[in-house]
Amino acid sequence: MKIKPLEEWNSTGKPLVIAGPCAAESKEQLIATAKEIAAIDPNIIFRAGIWKPRTRPGSFQGVGEQGIEWLMDVKRLTGLEVATEVATPEQARKCIEAGITHLWIGARTTVNPFYVEEIAKAMRGHDVSVMVKNPVHPDINAWIGSIERFADAGIEKLIAIHRGFHPLPESKYRNYPNWSIPLELKQRYPGLPIISDPSHMAGKRALVEQISQDAMDINMDGLMIETHINPDNALSDKLQQLTPPELKALLGRLVVHNDILQSPNALENFRGRIDKIDHDIIDLLASRMEISKHIASIKKEHDMSFFQLERWQEILDSRAIYGEQKGLRKNFVRELLGTVHAESIAVQKKMNRD
Ligand code: PEP
Ligand code: MN
Repeated sequence: MKIKPLEEWNSTGKPLVIAGPCAAESKEQLIATAKEIAAIDPNIIFRAGIWKPRTRPGSFQGVGEQGIEWLMDVKRLTGLEVATEVATPEQARKCIEAGITHLWIGARTTVNPFYVEEIAKAMRGHDVSVMVKNPVHPDINAWIGSIERFADAGIEKLIAIHRGFHPLPESKYRNYPNWSIPLELKQRYPGLPIISDPSHMAGKRALVEQISQDAMDINMDGLMIETHINPDNALSDKLQQLTPPELKALLGRLVVHNDILQSPNALENFRGRIDKIDHDIIDLLASRMEISKHIASIKKEHDMSFFQLERWQEILDSRAIYGEQKGLRKNFVRELLGTVHAESIAVQKKMNRD
């Protein structure tokens, strides 16, 4: 893949920050938000979705084409660069014609090779930057495939956006970070800038800062943070959007590790991946324990015993076989799960007593 280094086309330095509302709602909302963002840092790229991919019909679908004009007004009035999401070739053409040169591909579009191919074709020959969000499911090859289709169409200003993956049940995240995936992407394509979107991973304001710092700690190149002049009245994603003063405070506290940035070496990258996988394992164990607590209440309600030998034998045997297929020793998997199970039983018993 031919990728233009970020420094060659964007002089903001690291981290690259993209901020703005989930969706454009009115011209006034966009301009008021953009003015405050420009006052924080004129290098921030202003984002706003004008066509919103919503999971269920009936929710706010975005203001559509008129939003293009509003974004161009933002550009004229504040001097900020502007970015929006495109999901069809037609949308890409309209944005490019109007002069919007930073375009992103949403998580639900990345996953579809036919759409991506058509959108990439519409962009061929234009000087645009394309940011590709990871697909909703944790499939690194689908993510890479989509980025490659833009590279094949001659787009060299490419950025990957890590926005998390469809969550596990009982997880605290709206979209599970699964940090080992962006780290693997970095390992495979060291020249590809990757920025994180903590807003869609968090789903709630309180988690955005920690995820932003986690992203900096593993040397991500930037952040896309949803910011709204009045998040409580936002028409979409209101729980996760920050106010401009909150964005300013977060950026002020963010620790950016220049040492890692200047000396990316393979060992650091692998260690970072191990750290994050351990983090993911702990998150998974916590999710497992939450489910085990639900099971405990059901068992209690139906007066069932906490330990069922048959079920447990079946778990150990099937997991040991699965582990072996993945290159792990059977006994290692048995011991590990034995410890996990013993803790679940202990917690279930304690719940029964309390
Ligand atoms: C967005 O950035 O507003 C958005 C819809 O994100 P995603 O495609 O990551 O869900
Ligand atoms: Mn959003």
